[in-house]
Amino acid sequence: MLLKIVTPERVVVEAEVDAFYGKTLDGMIGIKPRHIPLVTPLDIGVMSYSINGQKYPLAVMGGMLSTDGKSVTVLSDAAELTGEIDAIRAKQAKERAEAELRKLDDKHTNAVAQKALTRALTRLKLVSAK
Ligand code: ATP
Repeated sequence: MLLKIVTPERVVVEAEVDAFYGKTLDGMIGIKPRHIPLVTPLDIGVMSYSINGQKYPLAVMGGMLSTDGKSVTVLSDAAELTGEIDAIRAKQAKERAEAELRKLDDKHTNAVAQKALTRALTRLKLVSAK
């Protein structure tokens, strides 16, 4: 099954895989060959694919997944493999987002800072799991 993970900047992954494990807004989903045709939005989180039984995790910053059972395409604003993540940058992004969120009282939310925090935590989860 051909997996393509594409961002506006680059092709992050283009490979023959056994399976792709994505985080949708409704929970985790496993896509293997002959999966029913599907288009679904993705959450921000750690996802993975496997080649010959070996799992490769990556951070995907939301987007859309589509499959026809023969291939899987993920289109996302950003995605990085474990080795591509700059841990210091992610830590700084986390601190910035947390500082923004600290400015709020409990009646307000800041969706932009909340999402930035989720992106940073997703990246940090991958580098600490290395
Ligand atoms: P930052 O505030 O550090 O830019 P961000 O979450 O706002 O973080 P994104 O908008 O998700 O960043 O991504 C912008 C671009 O920078 C994308 O190409 C993404 O892959 C890359 N990127 C962001 N953070 C990192 C990181 N910690 N390591 C490697 N690449 C990163």
